[in-house]
Amino acid sequence: MTNLRIERLCKTFGTFTALDDVSLEIPTGKFVCLLGPSGCGKTTLLRVIAGLEAPSGGRIFVNGEDQTRMPTHRRDMGMVFQSLALFPHLDVAGNITYPLAIRGADRASRAARAEELLELVRLPGMGARRIDQLSGGQRQRVAIARGLAIDPKVFLLDEPLSALDAGLREHMQIELRQIQQSLGVTTIVVTHDQKEALTMADLVIVMKDGVIQQAGAPMEIYRNPANAFVAGFIGTTNLLPCAIHDGTIEVLGARLPITEGDRIGVDHGAVQLSVRPEHIGIVPTGKGAIEAEVTFVRDLGESRHVLLQASGQEIIAQLTPETQASYRPGDRVSLDFRPGERVVVT
Ligand code: ATP
Repeated sequence: MTNLRIERLCKTFGTFTALDDVSLEIPTGKFVCLLGPSGCGKTTLLRVIAGLEAPSGGRIFVNGEDQTRMPTHRRDMGMVFQSLALFPHLDVAGNITYPLAIRGADRASRAARAEELLELVRLPGMGARRIDQLSGGQRQRVAIARGLAIDPKVFLLDEPLSALDAGLREHMQIELRQIQQSLGVTTIVVTHDQKEALTMADLVIVMKDGVIQQAGAPMEIYRNPANAFVAGFIGTTNLLPCAIHDGTIEVLGARLPITEGDRIGVDHGAVQLSVRPEHIGIVPTGKGAIEAEVTFVRDLGESRHVLLQASGQEIIAQLTPETQASYRPGDRVSLDFRPGERVVVT
């Protein structure tokens, strides 16, 4: 069942359009990541959904009910802000149960709920602590607990993990996902970190300039990007000018027959071929479709990236750990683009 439906949402600030005709349907219980570069409208979309900003046009439905004009505190939504926005004058339990206090819940039920939530976010017995006595990760958990206090139908988080260092961040990504799954709450997380989105989400929504570029499962977006922006934004890819004719892709002076599985969604205009580094094979010179020269080799531990030049274009190929061959700058090689893994985008 669709939990959250957004219909043709627009938001302008003066003459600037921050959200441009955004429509979405999010099924109940899904974990959604809103992904896009800085300034693309992610936070604005979250704030409009929460009722913190009034839309300039469009409508928002939760479980079929039109909530577009409903005040924030009447929406069944919990929110975690990027700044966390914890109250220093309240203890942990006071912070967590603040949304319940403003809805008139009595002291005993608030205390019981605080205990439950502290268990959920793995801070049992910490209710009486002051906020300034907590680590960054613990504050994050308190903010998550507060966002969940009202048992929301929709849980909204704006870059909740961006202030954490890399190790803690990865740990919290898993924990947040586990909490969300245990509650089954529809969750939307804003992030500009594509790795975070691919790790956590059931559904990724990629935005640019206030417009949704693509919405889909992480692997679907990775394998079948809607356009060159999405291909380049999600994961690493090579975007190469190409032309499509007579059942072939003409690229870097070679003509590659189109094979089953290649995604040739467009065959006109200024098209580009998107090839992921892991789909490029390096073979001895003369044995592959495209001649190239190695310019740099980057060892990433679990894999190696080989940077190459072919017909004036820079190309990145990825070697698997099993690859015995080693390459040095100046080596002449041939490249094969794996059939069935070639995507043509505009
Ligand atoms: P970031 O990743 O940097 O947080 P974002 O994708 O969340 O970016 P938003 O904060 O939604 O982007 O902002 C989208 C655009 O709308 C930006 O260009 C921003 O300057 C503009 N904007 C946001 N709020 C306002 C406002 N209150 N008044 C005027 N412009 C605004």
